[in-house]
Amino acid sequence: MSEIELQVPFTEKDEAKRLGARWDSSRKTWYIPEGLERLAFARWIPTPQSPNIRAKGWSVAGSRRECWRCKRVSRVFAVVLPPGYEALRVEDDPSDDYWEGGEDLVLLSYVDDVPRSVAAQLHRLAPRYRIDYSQTTHSFYWMNHCEQCEAKLGDYETLQEPGTFYVLGTGLNERKVIIDSFHPVGEAFSAHCGAYANLE
Ligand SMILES: [Zn+2]
Repeated sequence: MSEIELQVPFTEKDEAKRLGARWDSSRKTWYIPEGLERLAFARWIPTPQSPNIRAKGWSVAGSRRECWRCKRVSRVFAVVLPPGYEALRVEDDPSDDYWEGGEDLVLLSYVDDVPRSVAAQLHRLAPRYRIDYSQTTHSFYWMNHCEQCEAKLGDYETLQEPGTFYVLGTGLNERKVIIDSFHPVGEAFSAHCGAYANLE
């Protein structure tokens, strides 16, 4: 199996298609079919990111939010890591980078690269949480999609709006976590993510 998944922004899909990329409707991703030269697709081939967070286990946490487009309520998901997770501390000299252990539960956001094993679990447990292009960050990351209308539900609103995962108010005391489902995955986890927040 040598298909290569591509990250094609919606506005470039016609060009990708013209060059021979195919659409996988179950994974909702473009890919290079076997036998095609990958050079033509170079700009859409994701650059692997070294993990900056890892743990011995992980969970898929669920919550709900209102969809900005259809105004209906959709389930949303995020990855939560248990106490004992490790985050990469980045120093000026890369050889000084080190892994630091964390003592709280953490919720990840702006996840932009995960190993295939993690992607497969996410696809199974939360199929509407998948990598997609954000017009806000101008990048691809794992985000939720409305279960009613498939609209993109970006991490900024999903994680910070009242009634969803947590609320960052004027003080940390106003932070409120609303998780209504929690599915532990007994496998090692690693990812590159843009941010993570402690859950108390
Ligand atoms: Zn919707």
